[in-house]
Amino acid sequence: MTIFTKIINREIPSDIVYEDDDVLAFRDINPVAPTHVLVIPKRPIVSVGAADGTDDAALMGKCMAACRAVAELEGLTDFRVVSNSGAGAGQSVFHLHFHVIGGRKLGWPPG
Ligand code: 5GP
Repeated sequence: MTIFTKIINREIPSDIVYEDDDVLAFRDINPVAPTHVLVIPKRPIVSVGAADGTDDAALMGKCMAACRAVAELEGLTDFRVVSNSGAGAGQSVFHLHFHVIGGRKLGWPPG
């Protein structure tokens, strides 16, 4: 279990911006841009790299649709969706999440 399960279960507070049956989206505690929201599946998957099978693929699709909904709720036309998969890529919480980042000019490539 990770800290995100505790957020899903409301055991620790978060600033929730979107929720449906399968997905939760809440503001990152350490934002790197004016909008920085984390979109997570309620059913835990470790990472994009660990996703397996059609059920996980469908759930990732729902997460991506939720990212789009979050961007619209936040009034963003330009934004970035990123998921760090594995510690070497910067993943620090091992419950799949997509960062929705926007509200400022974003550089490329990331570090
Ligand atoms: P990662 O480094 O795994 O790609 O992203 C994990 C993100 O989770 C980080 O941006 C970090 O700031 C965020 N985070 C870690 N713990 C908490 C928490 O307790 N609440 C919230 N809202 N965000 C968290």
